[in-house]
Amino acid sequence: CGIFAYLNYHVPRTRREILEVLIKGLHRLEYRGYDSAGVGIDGGNGKEWETNSKNIHLIKQTGKVKALDEEIHRQQDVSLDVEFDVHLGIAHTRWATHGVPSPVNSHPQRSDKNNEFIVIHNGIITNYKDLKKFLESKGYEFESETDTETIAKLVKYMYDNRENDGITFATLVEQVTQQLEGAFVLVFKSVHFPGEAVGSRRGGPLLIGVRSDHKLSTDHIPILYRSSGKDKKSCNTLPRMDEDTCLFPVDEKAVEYYFASDASAVIEHTNRVIFLEDDDIAAVRDGRLSIHRIKRTAGDHPARAIQTLQME
Ligand code: GLU
Repeated sequence: CGIFAYLNYHVPRTRREILEVLIKGLHRLEYRGYDSAGVGIDGGNGKEWETNSKNIHLIKQTGKVKALDEEIHRQQDVSLDVEFDVHLGIAHTRWATHGVPSPVNSHPQRSDKNNEFIVIHNGIITNYKDLKKFLESKGYEFESETDTETIAKLVKYMYDNRENDGITFATLVEQVTQQLEGAFVLVFKSVHFPGEAVGSRRGGPLLIGVRSDHKLSTDHIPILYRSSGKDKKSCNTLPRMDEDTCLFPVDEKAVEYYFASDASAVIEHTNRVIFLEDDDIAAVRDGRLSIHRIKRTAGDHPARAIQTLQME
């Protein structure tokens, strides 16, 4: 099972190129084992990425990544030549734990028929039955047998019931992961936060590759703590964009990010990676990466290093 996501920010890419990066990423993770695969990308056919991304397109298939790739090329309603200046694509290989291998049980799982929020997940949510019962009591109808679908629906529930209109994607995911028990690696995409990615992990690996033609402005990313203490949302020496984001890592605009279960999936794109730790929430917004935690605990290192992998 594997997680792969690709975010190009002011680096123009056609849908064909984006899908090639995603499929190649999944191929690199094939050795981990899986029974089905899927991708989530932006729909639309225009040039305006803000409006294009109001529509998310899912392609899912049982069997090999190759079968998914064939399915992608069978799709008539998504033109491969459309170019996106900013885009997030997410991709997944599934090793079924809850529900048989089938297209509807494959990931991305979605919040609703309009694909407002989609999520890819490796792991098991042990309290999903309770979450599902709660969401069903709120009128949500489930289409899959997976534990993962509860995550997609919970994030929409949190969003629809938000108290603060300015809530960030990172904060939403933080609220969701606080409700989850079990093990998970997650990456989220939403029509409400076009061009943004949020990833989180607990009990499984997740790393982020960064690629930019420009020099990175730092070799570490300070953790933004949600609550209590002097470290609250500290950017340390980095300039601050707003309450939720430090100016990392590039001052220039063009940058690409890769989220992956394993460094072998990103090494062909970049050798600069950040390994996340349990309960980190990593968010890319306006091309900037920030890492969030609820609170600082003893022994917690308040930054994540940007490491340089040795190329073979
Ligand atoms: N528990 C999830 C499912 O069965 C994710 C499995 C995985 O790690 O691939 O859909």
